[in-house]
Amino acid sequence: MYTLDSFLDSISSKNPGEDEFYQAVKEVTEVVIPFLNEQGRFKDSNILERITEPERMFIFRVNWVADDGSIQTNRGYRVQFNSALGPYKGGLRFHPSVNLSILKFLGFEQIFKNALTGLSLGGGKGGSNFNPKGKSDAEIMRFCQAFMDELYRHIGPETDIPAGDIGVGTREIGYLFGRYKKIQNQFNGVLTGKGIIWGGSQLRTEATGYGLVYFVNEMLKKNNDKIKGKRVMVSGSGNVAQYAIEKLLDLDAILVSASDSSGGIYIPDGMTKEHFSYLMQLKNKKRGRIHEMADKFSGISFLENTSVWEIETDCDIALPCATQNELNEKHAKNLINQGLKLVAEGANMPSTNEAIDVFLEEKVLFAPGKAANAGGVAVSGLEMAQNSQRISWTRDEVDERLITIMNSIHQQCEKYGQDSDGYINYVKGANLAGFIKVADAMLAQGLV
Ligand code: NDP
Repeated sequence: MYTLDSFLDSISSKNPGEDEFYQAVKEVTEVVIPFLNEQGRFKDSNILERITEPERMFIFRVNWVADDGSIQTNRGYRVQFNSALGPYKGGLRFHPSVNLSILKFLGFEQIFKNALTGLSLGGGKGGSNFNPKGKSDAEIMRFCQAFMDELYRHIGPETDIPAGDIGVGTREIGYLFGRYKKIQNQFNGVLTGKGIIWGGSQLRTEATGYGLVYFVNEMLKKNNDKIKGKRVMVSGSGNVAQYAIEKLLDLDAILVSASDSSGGIYIPDGMTKEHFSYLMQLKNKKRGRIHEMADKFSGISFLENTSVWEIETDCDIALPCATQNELNEKHAKNLINQGLKLVAEGANMPSTNEAIDVFLEEKVLFAPGKAANAGGVAVSGLEMAQNSQRISWTRDEVDERLITIMNSIHQQCEKYGQDSDGYINYVKGANLAGFIKVADAMLAQGLV
């Protein structure tokens, strides 16, 4: 028999100072422990101790030379968390806040998210405390090459297939892939998120944001509702936020906010297609800051160093798409007072556990990242399948598969998370559905 408190105590004593990892384990085990205690097949298997221990972790030095000739040293990581369902799969994050706790939380979440996709994917995550902001293109390239000079030993198309995350987009994947190919003399599907003309999949760039909106659509459909006309708040303005916004605008939602790490923008009447195309230029070509949206357009205000979750405005749907723990209990209450009905996490663990408790108590429809943002890794899985067969599917084919996968994740959440009153607890549903698949595969494969 497991008890939640004593199991969590063991996690904090084995992983001191790893607050984010503890938080992610807590969210899963709160749901899973009552289930495990009822299931004879997991008796004496030590399954929770096994599943919360990464199979392997690498920490390595990354030396590189800046444009001014100075020598720089960063720390690189790869956490190979669980391979019960397939090769390790999960992104690389380049951000100054990166540490082992953050990568272990992300790797742990990734195990269950990947299980939900139904594809043959294990869970992993990696990255570096390298800060890409303000670096020249040549510096980014040299850093990526130095990072791959160590990472290549641990990855491969049948072993571990990294992808992008915060600070790692198509440009960085290109430099990483080029170096891997040079060292190994092999052109293969070792990374996903590649450019379309060199092995990438159609729609991989859009997949997380589009998938998020497809998932929201399913949530609303269950309640005989639709996206059209809803007031939606989004945080972030990176890859996930951008394509969530694009899809929302296509579906006639009223998009009232976006942000970056310098603050938020508020657009009371909703973002137009003209605003959106400027945002894409600003963030992807110019690599500019979000206040430039407010400088350019009247009717948009910039709120410096302020979270979008503090904006006071009517809001039906919240899609946090920036980073972990950006939405706290106070924000949750604030949003509910403003009419919030639905939250779906585009980012990984953007809501604190206290905020999630508020949403669930108030019966807000709340979809955790491991379900709602799984579209990115799902299309990465499809990229791997195309690479293995040396073929490429059309945009429509990939989109159709993405919709099917997001709908299937919704069905799994419903199966395991629906209460007797019909309310779907997506936290319970996603965690149980993901956990059962991985744990059963681990039992079947013996003690390895
Ligand atoms: P990007 O780097 O493209 O964008 C990140 C966005 O979040 C930027 O607007 C960034 O602002 C903002 N941001 C990052 N860190 C902070 C911070 N500490 N405080 C405030 N704002 C911050 O990353 P992605 O869009 O790819 O990733 C966003 C989230 O989605 C992450 O949690 C990631 O793990 C998750 N995710 C991503 C997937 C993908 O396919 N890319 C798949 C599934 C989940 P600024 O530019 O100023 O730093």
